[in-house]
Amino acid sequence: MVRKFFVGGNWKCNGTIEEVKRIVAFLNEAEVPPEDVVEVVVSPPFVFLPLVKSLLRSDFQVAAQNCWVRKGGAFTGEISAEMLVNLGIPWVILGHSERRLLLNESNEFVGDKVAYALSRGLKVIACVGETLEQRESGSTMAVVAAQTQSIADKVLNWDNIVLAYEPVWAIGTGKVATPAQAQEVHSELRKWLHDNAGVEVASSTRIIYGGSVNGTNCRELAKQLDIDGFLVGGASLKIFVIYLIKQPE
Ligand code: PEP
Repeated sequence: MVRKFFVGGNWKCNGTIEEVKRIVAFLNEAEVPPEDVVEVVVSPPFVFLPLVKSLLRSDFQVAAQNCWVRKGGAFTGEISAEMLVNLGIPWVILGHSERRLLLNESNEFVGDKVAYALSRGLKVIACVGETLEQRESGSTMAVVAAQTQSIADKVLNWDNIVLAYEPVWAIGTGKVATPAQAQEVHSELRKWLHDNAGVEVASSTRIIYGGSVNGTNCRELAKQLDIDGFLVGGASLKIFVIYLIKQPE
């Protein structure tokens, strides 16, 4: 099964109108392989979604960085999946470690969000990953399996999910996982999907890596068998896309 390479840019809580326009202008000029080879999705803060969508080339897509767990209503400060659909936003990032850790989003809450967003027709970049403490205590796989299980508990159809393995210790720290470290977890995650969600899901679900990916380290990471792309934070605010495409062997 050929899995289309996926490159996501997570701009987090950054940017001004001027900066956003500059990044989009750069992306619009970037030379990248065609849509059937690589999928490029950028995720600006909510307030810039309509602007980015209106300016971005049509072969690139946009993602929100979060959405509410249920239908909208009296939830001050939240953005519903229905609103994203209404704006024509196809993707949403859910379960990012910054939300899990800083805003106490539990595995179960993330699983509920993923299921609800999918039910509204959104595609989901679902993030999992261990902290340094968890890695050092040998519980990496138990942690990411529990996070993935909470999604599998609520979701049967994985067609519209991209699973992002993002070790917390590598996010925004400059300490990228080695290709071998990342491949080990990706391959274990694929095996987990095989055993718990089925053969088809395991072979077709894209598992992307995130954590201090940049134009230099992406090439070796991209060569790993089970790395199907990247979620890029800091480097996606700079000049990123052209460096991040899997080079044909
Ligand atoms: C992220 O926030 O998803 C991320 C991977 O960040 P960075 O690339 O900056 O480590």
